[in-house]
Order: sequence, then structure tokens, then C-alpha cells
Amino acid sequence: MESLVFLSEVCEVICTYTSLKRGVRAILSRLVEALSLEGACLFLSRGRVYLWPEELDLQEYREALEGKPRKGVEVFPLPKPRGEMRGYLVVKKEALSSQERELLEVVARQLAQFLRHVRVQRELKAGAKLLLDLYSAGRELGSLLDRRALAQRLAEYVREFSGAELVNVTLFEKEGRHASITLYAGKDEGDIIKFYNEDLYKRVAVPLSTSKGNWGVVELYLSKDAPFGRPRRRMIHILAELAGTFLENITLYDRLRFLLEEREKRIRFLSILYQVGNAYRWTSELRKRFFLALRALTDPQKGLGLPEAYFFIRDEARGVLKGVMGVSWSGNSPWGEQDWTVDEEYIEKIERSPAFYDLRDVMPSGPPWSELEKGEVVYLSPGQGALPFMREGVVYVVFPLMAGEHLVGALLVGKEGGFDSEEVHFLTMFSHQLALAVESARLQEVLKMTGKELKEAQERFLHSEKLAALGELAARVAHDLKNPLIAIGGFARRLHDKMAEDCPDKLYTGTILKEVEEAEKILSNVLGYARVPSLKKRLADVNTLLDDVLFLHAEEMRDRNIVLVKKLDRSLPPVSIDPAQLRQVFMNLVSNALQAIGRKGSITVSTSRVERDGKEHVKVEISDTGGGIPEDVLPNIFNPFFTTKSTGTGLGLSIAKRIVELHGGEIRVVNNPPVGATFVVYLPLEGDGETQDQST
Ligand code: ADP
Repeated sequence: MESLVFLSEVCEVICTYTSLKRGVRAILSRLVEALSLEGACLFLSRGRVYLWPEELDLQEYREALEGKPRKGVEVFPLPKPRGEMRGYLVVKKEALSSQERELLEVVARQLAQFLRHVRVQRELKAGAKLLLDLYSAGRELGSLLDRRALAQRLAEYVREFSGAELVNVTLFEKEGRHASITLYAGKDEGDIIKFYNEDLYKRVAVPLSTSKGNWGVVELYLSKDAPFGRPRRRMIHILAELAGTFLENITLYDRLRFLLEEREKRIRFLSILYQVGNAYRWTSELRKRFFLALRALTDPQKGLGLPEAYFFIRDEARGVLKGVMGVSWSGNSPWGEQDWTVDEEYIEKIERSPAFYDLRDVMPSGPPWSELEKGEVVYLSPGQGALPFMREGVVYVVFPLMAGEHLVGALLVGKEGGFDSEEVHFLTMFSHQLALAVESARLQEVLKMTGKELKEAQERFLHSEKLAALGELAARVAHDLKNPLIAIGGFARRLHDKMAEDCPDKLYTGTILKEVEEAEKILSNVLGYARVPSLKKRLADVNTLLDDVLFLHAEEMRDRNIVLVKKLDRSLPPVSIDPAQLRQVFMNLVSNALQAIGRKGSITVSTSRVERDGKEHVKVEISDTGGGIPEDVLPNIFNPFFTTKSTGTGLGLSIAKRIVELHGGEIRVVNNPPVGATFVVYLPLEGDGETQDQST
């Protein structure tokens, strides 16, 4: 009965105690009491011993355990299921009955069960904590989208869970090709060498892999004697597996993001090309098309948002590149919210902004610019082909604008850090589109110009036809009038000469004579105009010619208070001219000036040597202070028979024009009302020395 009570007490201890020490002591103390033992102790592996009573001398008990027979001391091994701790119950009593021995065997079994019970409980508790830790670590690692950050946190968690001195995470770039990130958690990075000392540390390496590949490896350096039991190992493995999966996810995510960005970029590129292509159609003006292209490249909202872009166009006559315009901005873009537009107000606003560059004075030349002719993209290395507005540290690339095989211009773009292959691809397409827009604008301009020239030529032709017919008519009339006029003049003179001085009719014959003289002058002018003059050219000094003409008018000028200012360039070379014809030209111009001035004023005559269209010319200017030419009169002054004077023939300027043009020169008027007018004559110096007749 007593033993039954005792066993039920043992059962209660097993069920309620969680502390190993207190549980075993409770069982041993009850055992000693129930069986009236001298002492009882429990030996466990790793040298742990529990005894009762507390002051017991263990000597005999140990010796019995080691197999030396000691009187009254008996050993009862605890039954040991697989993997459990080894233990022995050793008791001392003078004489144990067989019943007591049986009971002790039962107690040994109970003790074994208690040991297992306590261990399982402990493990459960520890396991629950590990699971919680693992769960929160997994949650955090799973939320990271950056490989580096993930590796860093993984290293820290592994160190925390393993108790390692140092943890090293290495990530593989792609499929284990290249180790790209190495992170250390724990000691200083410099200490790593120490951890390779295998006498002091053990190294454990766990792969970070999934079925899709190897993403990296985590290495742990643990002190040789540090406990690294199954639960911890298991936990590190689970963590490594989780990290592998997360790394795979991040790689997938990165790839997806890259593809999406790429797609977005392409859509953006295509939309810019479409929009600007559309906008080109609103204007055929070259400058406006360049303006639109500039916006497409540098506007961060509607365009590509490049910080710098500049355009150049090829000067066909000289075969060189000339600057057009450019934009270079940082901070706020100059473009604003405006729609794709080419209205003048907006263009002016942009042109006034500090970001805008008027490049009309810029002429890039020499290599590498000259290489653009080949139609290939040119990368400017620092300092090469530099232009004043270029900045240091910026990568510049030039794209040729090719219309077929023909270079029509160039696009220069700049960006810190350079351009990726997608951008170069886009800029190439953009340049093709722009080249076509430039070429078509140019062709349209040429077409317009040709049309205008054609119309002018046609008008000139009609006009000259009319003039020729008029001239012919005038010549015939003049010719027919000439003989009767000579007869009238002749007879009038005879009558006049015969009349006595005091005859009152002599006044009338005198008037007839004067008017006939005037009429003859007009007739000879008309005949002079109708006759196409033939030039008798020789080398002559223009200054001398002017001196002669001005000398003839000197007296008249003095009488009328007209000041003459001469600014003649005496170093002028002789010019191949018909002096008689040119004298007539200068006579006409000077007498027109005198007539315009009336009383009081000044005439300035100057000569100089100038270059026009790449050719040397002598320039003669005759200015007066006669008030200038009324606007409505101006277009007609070179027309034959056009005059505003009551006694004028309207032939002076038209004859002068024809003579100057026969010399290959040009006559122009610079009207400066209300001061006066300046007539300018250009005579080419080329062909000096030729003395030949020129008639048309
Ligand atoms: P004319 O002198 O016989 O009128 P021109 O052909 O020499 O014929 O000149 C045509 C017209 O041009 C003149 O009638 C005059 O109206 C204008 N003209 C020419 N020279 C001058 C001048 N220096 N100042 C103002 N008007 C001028």
C-alpha cells in the first residue's frame, strides 16, 4: 500500500514539475523516505549528479557505478530509448528486498520518463521561440527588394541565430558566374583573416539556392567550442532556403522592372518621334522645324529631356557646317507647359531665355566634324572638335543629318555620363527624320525662290519688250521730226538774222529759235536712248572723270551757294571703262542732284574700293541734300520717260543705268528723306587692261 502511495506521488511529480532539478530531488527524497534508504543519487551524462540527502558522500556510489562492488550499494540503469540521455539511479540500503528492487526498477523507468518529459517541454519552448524569430526574419527579408540590403540583413540574422563570430554572405551575379557582393556581420572586416585559422574556428557554409539556381552562399565562422546544435543548424538552413527564394524573386522582379522600363522608354521614344513628325507638318520654315526638333530633344515633359542639344546646317555654297541654334539648361527647363507649337510669341520667349543659344556665328570645322560626311555617328573625346559653349565633364556625340548620301546638317547632343545604346538608337532615328524635314523645307524654299525669280524675270522681260517697242516708236517719231525741225530752225534763223534789231517781231523769232533748240536737244536725247551704245573701253581714272564733271558745274554751284564735298580715294587703280559714256552717267547724276537741291545745300562725291560678292569694285557715291525722292516716285525713277520735272525728259537715269550695266556694274539709289538721296555706282575692277569694244 505504501509503495502504491509513493508511486502515485512520483507520477504527480512527473506530470507537474517542469524543472529537472526540483523534479528529480522531489522523487529522490520521496524514494529515500519510502524505502528507508541511506541515500539515493541520479547520475546523468556530462557529469551531472542529483542526490538525496544533500550531504551524502558520493564516493561509494561512484565506485559502484564504475563497477566496483560496494556493500549495500546497487545501480539501476535508466532505460534509454534512442537518442535519449544516459542515466543511473544508485541507492544504498543494508538489505534490499526483491520487492524493493522491483520498485526501484519502476522508479528508474519513471525517472527516465521524467527526464524525457522535461526535455521535450524545453525543446517545445525553444522551438516556439525559434519559429517566431524565423517568422519575423522571413517576413523582413521577404519585404526587401534590393539584393544588397537583403544580403546585409541575412548576414545579421544568421549571426544572431547561430551565435557565430562572423558571417559572410556572398551573392552571385548571374547563375554563380561572379561573386558581386560580400558582406560581413560581426567583427571588423579586417578580422576575416583570423577566422580562417581552423584551429580556433569552425567554418560552416550554406548555399543560397533554389531549383532555379545558385544565388549565393552564407559562411559562418563559429568558435570551436560554441554549441551549434540541430535546432540552430536547421534554422540557419531554413533561413538560407528562404533567402535563396527571395533572391530568386528579386532577380525576377528586377528583370521584370527592366523590361517594363525598357518598354516605357520605347513607347516614349516612339511618341516623341510621332509628335514632332506631326509638328513638322505645320511649318515648312527651316528655322521653325529646327526649333521643334530642339524642343523634342530637350523638353523634359514633352520630349527626351536632354540637358544639351545643338543644330548645324550645311552651307551648300561653301561646303561647310554652320551653327543654327541650341539649348543648354539645368534646373528649370525653358519650355514650360505650352503645346507643340511654332507661334512667334512662344519662339521669341524661348529665344530670349538664357538656355537658348543662337549659333549663327559658330562654324565647326576640321576633324572630327569633317568625318560626318561619311554619315557615321561621331563621339567627341574630351577637347576634340570643341566649340566655345561646350562644358567639361560632359560626353558629346554628333549625329549626321543625311538626306540619302548627302550631309545636310548635324545634331550635337551632350550629357554627363553619356548615352546608353537605346538613346543612341533613338537619336539616330530622330536624325533621319530631322534630315528629311530639313531637306524638304530647303527644297520648298528653293522652289519658292525659283518661282519668285521666274515671275520677276517674266515681268522684266515684258517690261523690256514694252520699252523696246516704245523706244523704237520714239526713235521713229524723233527721226521723222528731225528734218522738219531742222527746216523750221534754219528758216527761223534766216528770218531772225534778216530782221532789224528794233523790229518788234524779232522777239518771236528769237523764241522760236530757243524752243527749236530745246526740241532738238530732246530729240537727240531720245535718239541717244534708242540707239544701243557701243562701248569704247580703255583704262581710265574714275577720279579724273569726276573731277572734270564737277569742274563743269563749279560755277553754277558757287552761284547757288551749293557746297561741294569731295572724298575721292586717290589710290584707286585705273578702271577699264568707256570714259565718254561714264562722263554722261556722272553728268546726269550731278545735274539731277543740283536740280533737287535748288538753292543752298551740299553735294558729296566720294570714291572707294570695295568687295561685292567676292569681286573687287570701284564705288562712286553722289549724295545731295535735296530732300530725297517721294515714296510713290521711287520705283519709277529708272524707267525711261519717267520724270517729275516740267522740262525733264525722264531719260537721264535710264540711260545712266544702261551704261553702268553695260560695264558689268550696278547703279542703286539710297533714299534718305527728308535729307536727300544718294546714287551709288559700282564698277567692277575685274578685266582690267582689256580694251575692247563691247556692244550688245
Ligand atoms: P529727269 O531728270 O529728266 O526727270 P531722270 O531719269 O534723270 O529724268 O530722273 C527721273 C526722276 O527721278 C526725276 O524726275 C526726279 O523725280 C527723280 N530724281 C532723280 N534724281 C534725283 C535726286 N537727286 N533727288 C530727287 N529726285 C531725283
